[in-house]
Amino acid sequence: MTVLAVADHRRGELRDVSYELVTAGRELAEALDAELHVAVVSGDVEAFAEHLSLDGVDTVHTVAHGEEFNHDVYVQALEALDAEVDPTVLLMPNSVNGLDYAPAVASSLGLPLVSDAVALAWDDGLTVTREMYASKVETTVDVDADRVAVTIRGGEWGPTEDHGSPAVEAFDLTVDESRVRSRVTGFEEVGGGDVDIADADVLVSVGRGIEEEENIELVEELADAMGATLSASRPIVDNGWLPKNRQVGQSGKVVTPDVYLAIGISGAVQHVAGMKGAETIIAINTDPNAPIFDIADYGIVGDLFDVVPALVEQFR
Ligand SMILES: Cc1cc2nc3c(=O)[nH]c(=O)nc-3n(C[C@H](O)[C@H](O)[C@H](O)COP(=O)(O)OP(=O)(O)OC[C@H]3O[C@@H](n4cnc5c(N)ncnc54)[C@H](O)[C@@H]3O)c2cc1C
Repeated sequence: MTVLAVADHRRGELRDVSYELVTAGRELAEALDAELHVAVVSGDVEAFAEHLSLDGVDTVHTVAHGEEFNHDVYVQALEALDAEVDPTVLLMPNSVNGLDYAPAVASSLGLPLVSDAVALAWDDGLTVTREMYASKVETTVDVDADRVAVTIRGGEWGPTEDHGSPAVEAFDLTVDESRVRSRVTGFEEVGGGDVDIADADVLVSVGRGIEEEENIELVEELADAMGATLSASRPIVDNGWLPKNRQVGQSGKVVTPDVYLAIGISGAVQHVAGMKGAETIIAINTDPNAPIFDIADYGIVGDLFDVVPALVEQFR
């Protein structure tokens, strides 16, 4: 038996979810007593394969085809790899790319597809945990099939970082060009693309407790003093005080920094969905009963207009 995980990359870099897919795949492979194979399609696959040579991975399949993501090439690559590897579980990222090709791959292979998994368990079959209704309801899906395709949500599994020594096999894909009906013509980062908060190690995040647009400067000062990146809850973005690419949450970005400092953020489920994977969560809030304190490792019950300037002093 085999579990096949498909790595994700963008603009020449493997994305964090690739390392999380290895963790998810490794856990499943152990439960299934199966091998874990990882596939990487397009781009600098040799460099990617080196990074994907991780503990618990048995084989990395490299499919060298094109520099950029292409839906139709991915579909053909995964069809061909499926024929060779015959995975019991095909794991894909619930990323923009993954969501683009996973349904087509599952349909083409006649596999059931469960999307946006936040947990996986195997006991005589696969059980997938998902979240619904803006993360207010958790559901479990028992898959009644011998083989299944799943997309996993980023930030739900810890990344596998330890190096391993898998076999690296170059997969010779013959693309049927008549089936390549779409091309990527360019890349544009939403909101100007000044930063990608998903890549930040330390995030200082501001919420509605900041009250006025001009007060954002205060939190910006703290982010600068800490060498951190500024992010926000949705109301700040909806008000136009920060661009959309700074929004953390269900309809924003999923982030997994080492430190997440939530300032004047209540901790609504839609916000928490985007930041609960942070290693250390610190919250500043006047309300001791704010839900953010339920998930915070450290909390300061206090007025941000007193606490933030004091922190700026400390960091300078
Ligand atoms: C479909 C859907 C998708 C959504 N997607 C997202 C998303 O991606 N991201 C997101 O963030 N939200 C999202 N939301 C909105 C979400 O439900 C909340 O409304 C939002 O997260 C609240 O933002 P907040 O915590 O900044 O504001 P509030 O909930 O208003 O909280 C402000 C907090 O600041 C505290 N505070 C006030 N004054 C001070 C002070 N002086 N010092 C310290 N603390 C103070 C208050 O006690 C309070 O806890 C979504 C909602 C829906 C329905």
